[in-house]
Amino acid sequence: MSQMITVLGATGSIGKSTLDVLARHPDNYQVFALTANTQVDSMLQLCLVHRPQYAVMVDEKSAQQLAKKMADNGCAVEVLAGVDALCQVASAPEVDQVMAAIVGAAGLLPTLAAAKSGKRVLLANKEALVMSGQLFMEAIKENNAMLLPIDSEHNAIFQSLPVNFKEDINARKQVRNILLTASGGPFRGWDLQQLRNVTPAQAVKHPNWSMGQKISVDSASLMNKGLELIEACWLFEVQAKQIDILVHPESIIHSMVQYVDGSVMAQMGNPDMRTPIAYGLAWPQRMDSGVASLDFLTHSQLNFEAPDHSVFPALNLSRQAFEEGGTAAAILNAANEVAVAAFLREQIPFTAITDLIDAALNHCKFESADSIEVILAADASARRFVQGKITA
Ligand code: NAD
Ligand code: MG
Repeated sequence: MSQMITVLGATGSIGKSTLDVLARHPDNYQVFALTANTQVDSMLQLCLVHRPQYAVMVDEKSAQQLAKKMADNGCAVEVLAGVDALCQVASAPEVDQVMAAIVGAAGLLPTLAAAKSGKRVLLANKEALVMSGQLFMEAIKENNAMLLPIDSEHNAIFQSLPVNFKEDINARKQVRNILLTASGGPFRGWDLQQLRNVTPAQAVKHPNWSMGQKISVDSASLMNKGLELIEACWLFEVQAKQIDILVHPESIIHSMVQYVDGSVMAQMGNPDMRTPIAYGLAWPQRMDSGVASLDFLTHSQLNFEAPDHSVFPALNLSRQAFEEGGTAAAILNAANEVAVAAFLREQIPFTAITDLIDAALNHCKFESADSIEVILAADASARRFVQGKITA
């Protein structure tokens, strides 16, 4: 039977890769809803090709423009507007799976709505889990939802862990540690002096992956790996000390699990997000993703090195925030989002991103993160604090 899919963040890099995979299997999947923030023309094109039942634009004006263009093109897709509509199409009874691919904290409410209504949640939007870890994992469990990681590293770890790792104490004992790999980003090997003067154009130019702007900057600062460390702790119910971060510049191994007998299981493949997306959609089966076979002869060298913590403080800041618990990770995430946006507008230097996160973690009070209201309030207060520092 065909599965109904909502794609949150359809106009983004993950959204488009998801639609590419879905279009390869028209008999197995139907698109229920596509959502975006403001990108009207891109959404129109996607609707004309994929014919969802609903198109949601968060921005009201964009929704009006889209509705008019749909009518002009004779397209019968119903256009909705606003955050409530995002939550509606993520939780509608017709929907089986929700691809959570909105960037940043904006994805939290609709992704949580999908979890609360018992969907299969394909999680690309790591910020949602970083902000709300415990609350989110409880929502998954209490509502019999299923959470499958789409982030390539977490998808690799999921594939490499023993079956029933979380539930089976014996399976947990078999694992020595998780090796979370990082490409190192475009500034691998650079020193602090060099980092101070980098431009947004340099920061968004990732050596291996083609991604949205925010995650590209996060990859350059290693904040992406910091967020992924927290993401892995929640997803797999492990402590931060059970995860080692290993720089692997080629991004061919997507992460590994080391067992007590010395065996290391790695998941490998070309750096193309369609592989983890197809895995999540088809699990426990597998299906064609459109990704070419890995050619080992053109990747005859795989290299590894340790991250440079003196130049890239993001990893230690993230570890600290996770260990602190409560709203600390939501504060870290919000401070990063505001700082990255300011860096992209050329208001602050690259190295100020982690300085501002550090300042926010020192300034904002941590509380226990047991309700969505507390989490959103922590997010808002960190945003105000960092914005104040930037405009001061
Ligand atoms: P992107 O910038 O390309 O796309 C973001 C999408 O979110 C767009 O559809 C946009 O319309 C929507 N959006 C932006 N602001 C919004 C708002 N305020 N409200 C509602 N929708 C909004 O981003 P991306 O690279 O596709 O990344 C999406 C998520 O997936 C991020 O959380 C990222 O960390 C994660 N991720 C991405 C990759 C990748 O290869 N791109 C890999 C792993 C994880
Ligand atoms: Mg990743």
